[in-house]
Amino acid sequence: MISLKDYNDLLEDMEIGETRRFNHLGCKAGTDSRRRLYVSRTDNSPGMLLAYCHNCGDDGARSYAGGLKFRFGGKVPVKKASQTESNKIVVPPNLDLNVSQWPLEAVSTLHTLAKDIDDEVHTHLDVGYNAADHRLYWPMAEDVVKGGKITFAVPDLKGMQSRRCLGGGGQKYLKSVSRSFQGYTFLEGEDKLVVIVEDIFSAIKCNKAGFNAMCLYGVHASPESLYKVMSKSNKAVVWLDNDSDFILERAYKIKKYIQLMNKEVWVQETGIDPKHYMVSTIHEVLKDD
Ligand SMILES: [Zn+2]
Repeated sequence: MISLKDYNDLLEDMEIGETRRFNHLGCKAGTDSRRRLYVSRTDNSPGMLLAYCHNCGDDGARSYAGGLKFRFGGKVPVKKASQTESNKIVVPPNLDLNVSQWPLEAVSTLHTLAKDIDDEVHTHLDVGYNAADHRLYWPMAEDVVKGGKITFAVPDLKGMQSRRCLGGGGQKYLKSVSRSFQGYTFLEGEDKLVVIVEDIFSAIKCNKAGFNAMCLYGVHASPESLYKVMSKSNKAVVWLDNDSDFILERAYKIKKYIQLMNKEVWVQETGIDPKHYMVSTIHEVLKDD
């Protein structure tokens, strides 16, 4: 049983869905210098930290009360990083949509969100900066891309998503709709590959590369939504940000669901998700599949 006592200082402010890696001190399988101890705060158990060592196979857990000290907007205490709290986000009225006026921290946060996003996508995404809470906000839409063109028609808007900027406070990400919503977009044709991704930036890039994209806004997909999407297509690739075994597990779970529908599916085990690749690279990687 792994005790997390020695790591307490390093486990503050864990976000939901976050995994941190450490060298397992006193590992029974020999000295660990490759950070084989994974500590995760999962969506399913946000009140727990779950530990697993990939060196010795030992595991452990402890309760997690973090998040109590987080403050959003400098005023409202966020008791837990729960979906209920997230539902309460209100989009600031005076978002600055002109990237050239943003402070450097906001611009670099945008680039962290999506490398290589071009001006056209900026415009369509309507990513706005709010100076009052030092956060970025952008819309979540259902049918985001039609015929390769990105559209954010108002009726399609399902909510907003927000991310704190470098040096800012509050939760890293906030959403204004329930987790059960999943956005997806379609190009015509049953032979079109569906790329299942975590975030809207990856979805847009995959779409620009000529593929359908299903955006999970996270790593969870309900069998119902997968069925809905896969009823329009015959093959899919699950391409998440596979930087932890937890996320890889989710990817394989999604794969299993799709296999049960008798469709062709595989998991792209690249370490990072599509938003970090150039559109042309995504096209090259997936075009023959
Ligand atoms: Zn170990």
